[in-house]
Amino acid sequence: MNKQTLSFQAEVKQILHLVTHSLYSNKEIFLRELVSNASDACDKLRFEALDNAALFEGAPNLEVRVFFDKDAKTLTIRDNGIGMSAEEAVAHLGTIAKSGTKEFLATLEGEKKKDANLIGQFGVGFYSGFIVADRITVHSRRAGVSAEEGVSWSSEGAGEFEVEAITKPERGTDVILHLREGEEEFLSTWKLKSIISKYSDHISLPILMKKEEWDSEKKEQVVKDEWETVNKASALWTRAKGDITDAQYQEFYKQISYDSDPPLAYTHNRVEGRSEYTQLLYIPAKAPFDLWNRDKRGGVKLYVKRVFIMDDAEALMPVYLRFVKGVIDSADLPLNVSRELLQESRDVKAIREGSTKRVLSMLESLADSDDASEKQKYAAFWKDFGSVLKEGLGEDHANAERLAKLLRFASTQADDGVSLADYVSRMKEGQESIYYITADTLATAKSSPQLEVFRKKGIEVLLLVDRVDEWMLSHLYEFEGKSLQSVAKGAFDLGKLQDEEEKKQAEEAAAEFKPVLERLKIALKDRAKDVRVTTRLVESAACIVVEEGDMSGHLARLLKQAGQEAPKSLPTLEVNAAHALVKRLETDERFDDLAQIIFDQALLAEGGNLEDPATYVQRVNRLLAA
Ligand code: ADP
Ligand code: MG
Repeated sequence: MNKQTLSFQAEVKQILHLVTHSLYSNKEIFLRELVSNASDACDKLRFEALDNAALFEGAPNLEVRVFFDKDAKTLTIRDNGIGMSAEEAVAHLGTIAKSGTKEFLATLEGEKKKDANLIGQFGVGFYSGFIVADRITVHSRRAGVSAEEGVSWSSEGAGEFEVEAITKPERGTDVILHLREGEEEFLSTWKLKSIISKYSDHISLPILMKKEEWDSEKKEQVVKDEWETVNKASALWTRAKGDITDAQYQEFYKQISYDSDPPLAYTHNRVEGRSEYTQLLYIPAKAPFDLWNRDKRGGVKLYVKRVFIMDDAEALMPVYLRFVKGVIDSADLPLNVSRELLQESRDVKAIREGSTKRVLSMLESLADSDDASEKQKYAAFWKDFGSVLKEGLGEDHANAERLAKLLRFASTQADDGVSLADYVSRMKEGQESIYYITADTLATAKSSPQLEVFRKKGIEVLLLVDRVDEWMLSHLYEFEGKSLQSVAKGAFDLGKLQDEEEKKQAEEAAAEFKPVLERLKIALKDRAKDVRVTTRLVESAACIVVEEGDMSGHLARLLKQAGQEAPKSLPTLEVNAAHALVKRLETDERFDDLAQIIFDQALLAEGGNLEDPATYVQRVNRLLAA
């Protein structure tokens, strides 16, 4: 292959521009990114060599070497991993395979823009080299091919890069950074060692650097021709809990998640029994930008006996826990396990069950903690991840009860943080159900006419305003033996909460009102299935209810927004016979206008839209002008 000059993909150019112009803090993370790429390349080789030992070319010891040349002002990160062919170098170092680049650019334009720490999260870590280098040269050769099939890739990190064939006897990759003016601090053994121990201690391969010694004649540190391992080189999760500091756990989290915030909680356990494995699992503090993508693979890496097998092994966690990050290292799975095999494996099933339980326990201990700051953590977790956790009610029946306890809602008593257990503990004498209302917003929910009688009687009602709540309710019927009951569904019956006197009065009022009801039914026959007198209203004239088993107006609207057909079923109108406007129906000659207005207003109050707002306005104006 002759020397070729190629252009970077447009997104890469944008990234490079940002990298070289606006990332100032945490510059040193470039080393973490390049060491992590070197380590990934070794993991890949180890994995491919399981089927083809020849790839080791007789040298199975995988390692990373970091060295520099003070005079040439170059810093090199060398690995003897899988290497790249010329095509791979062009594809992997010239284009971005992963989605999410747009989000990355948007993040950089935001407040955190100067923090280089973000870069690895988006699969563009290689380019962080350009923070400190004005030229990067990569020499690489794929494992298992001849020395002549090496490639040299080189770029100044602007619009273009060059590739050319080279001879490279050793497999693997050298990334050579030509440091910018002013970045000489990275030409120091001490500096590099300290960055490596800060960010890359857990890398399970040895990272080697040349020894440095004090020369008493020259009176300076001199670099020897002797290599030493500068990282701990033991995978963090394999160490005993007692030997790991909180700071080390946090740093490890940053490396695997690329999250710049510390995790909310973590758990580290060696599990023995039916299946033997180690788990180190973290709950992030904030939702990632792609949380809502259910197709996104999970955040748990799979190792088998310390050999890296795959990233994002989705079979290890249920979908609703896709935000969990961490590592699972199995002692039982075969090394050549594939994604397909994972789906069927009984060991994996046991791991998934065990890990799910661990994550739920972590959440429970935050939620139930007496410590205010832990409780606060749970509130923050719920805000970001609550909607995802609700998916679990449909997905994970075995843990439905535990999940129900973790739910938090708004209610007529508090704007957030109400658990079902809190609700039950506040239930009134004689109350048999947990009452709720669904609506598009908290404001609509709070001002619903259906709540009036509950307010009057001091009965708490849950206000469910999350888009997934309607769906959730189709999986959550009861809690601790108390059924969940919509205040806007079915005939109004507070059971024991209503006294006989009230019931009698209501029946009498209904009987008296019967002739008007009959006329109302006729006037509204195209809009309401039924019209009846209710005691659920105190201040409002009327409200819309749907029959038990019918779809709520709120859910019908959600479906419509999502472009789906909602089954057409008419709601029921309930009127407050004691209300002045309703009373007027008995005498007023504009009966039809009044009836339509009462219906339209009931619809508006529950957050619905009028099909014909202009006619509504005309009707109201006719009455106002009269
Ligand atoms: P990521 O590591 O998230 O994939 P990077 O920007 O860090 O993103 O690297 C891009 C790609 O370049 C890698 O996925 C890999 O295919 C290739 N690559 C980078 N460094 C090496 C290396 N040392 N050896 C082999 N391939 C590498
Ligand atoms: Mg990388």
